[in-house]
Amino acid sequence: MNFLYELKSFFFPKNVLNFNTASPVHPTSRGIPVPTTKLREGSGSLTRSAEACPTKAIRILSDSEVQFDYGRCLQCGICTENSDGKLRDSGFIYTFALSREELKVTYISGRMEKVSELPISLTESQKRFQELTKKRGFLYREVAAAGNNTVESELNASFNSVFDSEREGVRCVASPKHADAIVFSGPVGKNMAAPLTTAWEVMAEPKALIACGTEAVSGGLFPQGKLPKEPDLFISGDPPRPDVILQGFRLLMGRFSFRFQEALHKILENEK
Ligand code: SF4
Repeated sequence: MNFLYELKSFFFPKNVLNFNTASPVHPTSRGIPVPTTKLREGSGSLTRSAEACPTKAIRILSDSEVQFDYGRCLQCGICTENSDGKLRDSGFIYTFALSREELKVTYISGRMEKVSELPISLTESQKRFQELTKKRGFLYREVAAAGNNTVESELNASFNSVFDSEREGVRCVASPKHADAIVFSGPVGKNMAAPLTTAWEVMAEPKALIACGTEAVSGGLFPQGKLPKEPDLFISGDPPRPDVILQGFRLLMGRFSFRFQEALHKILENEK
């Protein structure tokens, strides 16, 4: 019987995600909210959406300017439902970046502010981590820092045969002493701040701290606790899908050329 399975997999294409052709927009996902042409035409403000947002991810800066902090966004769709058609769910799910600021997007009269085309400058710790991991991948210890275990479910799924984390050389280990990175989830409640810091401190350099999920990036619905340092990678989403997590890891390793604001800008401009 096993022989027949082997034979079948020989003739039929494998159902493994191809990272190089995967799209940041997923047709069956809600993704982040973005303005529609109705807002561009100047029909009112987003005050009702901003008030309804459970994480206060939307800031009205002036009559024509609004800022979305996608690092706070749960991709829940409540703002879209309260926007009278001025927002829509974009299906854009690649909400990850090497700097926290990149996840904050300002729209002026419904249009995304022009983004810088300069190459992103890496911090020293990000550079050293890339040098270590670009070819060989990395090992990580996961720390559930007062989250709701949804991120852990997606991390588990990242090892299945569709996403296949190990083909990128990314594996999970039990001890932070054996790890190159800490991947933490949750808003870091007060009882988890010290264990997270301890796990970080016992690791050898070079090492990276990865915030996985909206709660880890910003606290989400909760105040954010104390972190050992500024994370090297921010992966937003509540929870992020396994392919989003893995593409974020690939970005940190220097295997994926991606800038959140550039990709979003390109998609929004192509929809004009
Ligand atoms: S958290 Fe929900 S309501 Fe707030 S911006 Fe994101 S999708 Fe909209």
